[in-house]
Amino acid sequence: MGHFNIAVDGPAGAGKSTIARMVAKKLGFVYVDTGAMYRTMALHFIRLGIGPGDEEAIARACRDVDVTICYEDGAQQVMLNGENVSGLIRTEEVGSMASATSVYAPVRKKLVELQQELAKKADVIMDGRDIGTCVLPDAPAKIYLTASVEVRAGRRFKELAEKGVECSLKEIEEDIRERDYRDMNREHSPLKQAEDAVMLDSSAMTIDQVVDAIIRIACERGLEVGA
Ligand code: C5P
Repeated sequence: MGHFNIAVDGPAGAGKSTIARMVAKKLGFVYVDTGAMYRTMALHFIRLGIGPGDEEAIARACRDVDVTICYEDGAQQVMLNGENVSGLIRTEEVGSMASATSVYAPVRKKLVELQQELAKKADVIMDGRDIGTCVLPDAPAKIYLTASVEVRAGRRFKELAEKGVECSLKEIEEDIRERDYRDMNREHSPLKQAEDAVMLDSSAMTIDQVVDAIIRIACERGLEVGA
């Protein structure tokens, strides 16, 4: 029997990971965070002292790196050459390196293969930028989750403020615009809505409303819950 997969794509800060994690919990699905994999690769390049523009060195570094994931208490952990680096990948430095290096084909090829393997093994809800378009083109349920730049910047600002990180709303907005542009305009697997994806704009929705909408869409696309 095949597994039921849900693809969630959208720009940075739309709430994909929070929402996908909640949907996974409610449906008993495995949540796969593909951004964490690109961040893990980025950490590897940073550690090797490779610059974001050095395509050759990046291609070489992709050859013998090992990125895998595992789950601890239901939470996804990323492993870089056997080391759990989950606690090291959430920095701005790693995020921006991930955004810059995810444009390269060898980086994407390696991670897409891993993602496709995971989706074969379990019912997954997978979030990223190219899940509905490239990674799981046959997923029965696809969501394109977005929100206005202002709303996304505001959420990020609040998140950082709660952590005690000083930041400027304007700078966050600019960073989001820049990242959107890069994700949407790159040559390989740019961020775009798959033709058969349902667009959800979370700007004026609560988290619970988005979670419920996704579960409803999955049911409309053939998911049978709670037999
Ligand atoms: O989602 P997150 O911010 O953790 O992703 C980090 C970066 O990885 C993104 O800015 C994007 O460039 C890249 N990414 C990607 N394809 C995915 C997931 C993430 O290119 N499926």
